[in-house]
Amino acid sequence: MYDFRLDEVTEWIAGKGARTIALQMPEGLKSHGQELAKEIERRTSGRCVLIADPCYGACDVDRRFSDYADVLVQFGHADIPSMQAGPDVLFVEVFMDMDISELLPRALPLLKGTVGVLTTVQHVKMLPSVVKWLEANHHRALVGKGDSRIVFEGQVLGCNISAVEPLKGLADSFLYIGSGDFHPLSVAIETSLPVVVVDPLMQEVRELGELRERILRQRHGAIVRASQAERFVVLVSTKAGQNRMEMAWSLRHLLEEHNRSADIVALEEFHPDRLLPFDADAYVSTACPRIAIDDYLRYPKPLLTPVEVEIVLGLRSWDDYRLDSIAGD
Ligand code: SF4
Repeated sequence: MYDFRLDEVTEWIAGKGARTIALQMPEGLKSHGQELAKEIERRTSGRCVLIADPCYGACDVDRRFSDYADVLVQFGHADIPSMQAGPDVLFVEVFMDMDISELLPRALPLLKGTVGVLTTVQHVKMLPSVVKWLEANHHRALVGKGDSRIVFEGQVLGCNISAVEPLKGLADSFLYIGSGDFHPLSVAIETSLPVVVVDPLMQEVRELGELRERILRQRHGAIVRASQAERFVVLVSTKAGQNRMEMAWSLRHLLEEHNRSADIVALEEFHPDRLLPFDADAYVSTACPRIAIDDYLRYPKPLLTPVEVEIVLGLRSWDDYRLDSIAGD
């Protein structure tokens, strides 16, 4: 099912003359790690170190790899070009070409007019055939290219749906090929258009209207709960591709201008227990936009996004709500 593209990987390692290679991958691929390490060692004169820490995205390059390895190879994610990970890091997208021929007809009745097609990096190679299939079924199909945080046409990240921008005003609905609901949920909230998920792993088709309403209710509740908050803690991730320190300082300034206190707290791995020593009525996450939405129930205090702080302070209306995102340069 997976293509780890080891010819390209070993050629790159040889070109670097690397002796020690750090291997990083998301949880879903970790069980292949030992086999990959063995094969890379067999094909090169190098030795491999497997990184066990969680790896949620390309934003999450292990900063300390150069302490013990010459290069780092991260499997499963596309580069985030605007992050500039450096010449000793290689991102190896792991493409998956899966059969969705039985799912697409089930998506058809849920789609309207011109269809914007989106996916995650794993499935970008499937887009041309999906576009062709839509056109054969009387839908105009459009694929947009995102900003400098994005490599492939039609690709979206949980933190970046800029591939939707060029399709605004043109698409009447969106078809998302991929697993999980967070990426297409952002699209549903941002555009208010029907978003249909074709999930090749679960072999499922679903429309996101109901989830959109549930999440909006949840976020509205968090904003209401935070509206009386006086002490805020603004959280900053130390991960390279999630770090928005300037935004954190601006938020602190904004909160103080509105007679709230705010402290900046930096951390690598977010966990509610890490925040126990700090006094706060509400938290604001400037890190991965998924944290505030996916982990909402784990935090005893409201955990807001930067957009939601603007609503709490009366600087933005609820009608102008959108999920947080991290733009490229
Ligand atoms: Fe994925 Fe979050 Fe990293 Fe964006 S910031 S790439 S959504 S883990």
